[in-house]
Amino acid sequence: MGPAHAVAAAATSVATHTTRNRSPHVRLFLAVVLTASLPACATKVSAATPTAATCVSEIGPGIPPPASPPAKQPGFHAAWWGQSGYMRLCPGERATATLAYYNSGSLGWVSGRLGEVAYLGTWNGEPGQDRPSILGGDGQLGSPATGWPRYDRVAAQPAPYIAPGQIAWFQFAVQAPTVPGTYQLYVRPLIEGARWMEDIGVYWQVVVLNPDGTVPAPTPLDPIGMTFQVDAGVAARDIAEVHQGVQHASGFLDSFAGGARRSASTVHVYVGDASQRYCCLTTGDSFEIVTSNVAWASPSAAAVDTWTADTERVELAAHEYIHLWQYAVGGRSCMIGVRWISEGMAESFAYRSLIADGLIPAANLDTFTKRQLRTPRSATGAAASARARSGTPLSRRRSARRPTRSTRASSSSARSTFARARFANSRPPPAPATAGPRGPVSSRRRGSA
Ligand SMILES: [Zn+2]
Repeated sequence: MGPAHAVAAAATSVATHTTRNRSPHVRLFLAVVLTASLPACATKVSAATPTAATCVSEIGPGIPPPASPPAKQPGFHAAWWGQSGYMRLCPGERATATLAYYNSGSLGWVSGRLGEVAYLGTWNGEPGQDRPSILGGDGQLGSPATGWPRYDRVAAQPAPYIAPGQIAWFQFAVQAPTVPGTYQLYVRPLIEGARWMEDIGVYWQVVVLNPDGTVPAPTPLDPIGMTFQVDAGVAARDIAEVHQGVQHASGFLDSFAGGARRSASTVHVYVGDASQRYCCLTTGDSFEIVTSNVAWASPSAAAVDTWTADTERVELAAHEYIHLWQYAVGGRSCMIGVRWISEGMAESFAYRSLIADGLIPAANLDTFTKRQLRTPRSATGAAASARARSGTPLSRRRSARRPTRSTRASSSSARSTFARARFANSRPPPAPATAGPRGPVSSRRRGSA
């Protein structure tokens, strides 16, 4: 949108805006006619990262301040005062965001002085308090180096002193991730070394366009009731991909399976060490992701003719979310017994949630299915036998699905098996003496049932 257009449109209805907490659609609609009150710098798109000519980024209209100044309070306080427009960016492209806060406290904000200097910090839900974001940062913990003061400090106060009653126009650069979709960055103002100021759920949203410039299907926000516990040290990419998986899966259930779950649930994401057997484990109402586990770090289904490792990790999280839904629907009895039913459902729904949102072409799922069918029977039999013998709950399917290095080195057939077999996954290949890799299909069925 050009500035002239924005100004003309905004002149008629600035006074009507009263809230920033309406639904995204309402908010967007309001914002369309209310652009002019934000500075021009808020709509600048960086050309630093060239993109394909077919993809063109755009910045949405800004959201102006409330009609009347907020009440002042003693101490350090901040009130939201408007922001520039949400962005649709081509993969990898950068843009500058502006977020304004009114100093509604009795104390001034002093740049460079610990205990008095104001920042915007990363906050819950995504990426979490003091956690790195895939949308920007300083290069630490996998955050893109977009010039933030720190990976968990989005912007510092823009002037040496922000007096009570003055407005600070925080600015920060965001960079679009490579996987198309809708991404959020929640922020909260704080006085570094003193206290967090008001949290009113402010977030930034970036839609990453498809490489051909088309707009991907909108991804819903995290479902109600979900709590993300992200431990220190988890990388920005992993945090984003867990959220993306949950969002795609819950959106799919809402649209195609009668509604997503709504009960309280916790997703625990941590780096882990060699002691965690599974990358992804659902237990009752919660699941956990161990980012150092090889099944997460190097997911085995990733292949150039199917989809990328990033997309595969999103699918892993979506799969676990489907298990939460199964548990909500049927309790523990849904999670034991005929494991391939719930596993197959989780896998099917998870992949289809990505197809529905355009991350995977439907034809690629067919490619994968056909490849499964072409996989030598001996190979799938071996893995299935291992799975049958393991006796682990179905929700533990996401063990390290690739064989260990030593196992891979010792068996080229095992390597091809685990590189290809998406569903035959639970354990490294068994020792030939106990479960022959040439076991018939019938034994696989018997073992699984
Ligand atoms: Zn599973």
